[in-house]
Amino acid sequence: MIGRCHHCATDSETYYNCANMDCNELFLCCESCLKAHVGCCCHECQEAPRLRPYKLSAKPFRRWYHYADTKEALYQLAGKDVPQREEPL
Ligand SMILES: [Zn+2]
Ligand SMILES: [Zn+2]
Repeated sequence: MIGRCHHCATDSETYYNCANMDCNELFLCCESCLKAHVGCCCHECQEAPRLRPYKLSAKPFRRWYHYADTKEALYQLAGKDVPQREEPL
């Protein structure tokens, strides 16, 4: 079943999570709008302080922590300071 892009209402069947980690809205988006809005659901989110990098957010149906190769990267993606000591996540 095909839906419509959240931004331009063109036919689209792919859901993305908003790149703004404080929003994380799941929305339908076409590829060109995804690029134009850097993976965000709305203009406000584009200016939010905690954005996932566009390339990472451009993959649908995956959570941000799948993109982290190291624990340091995981914390950075989560917008947290990397802890000094070993701690379970
Ligand atoms: Zn669109
Ligand atoms: Zn958003």
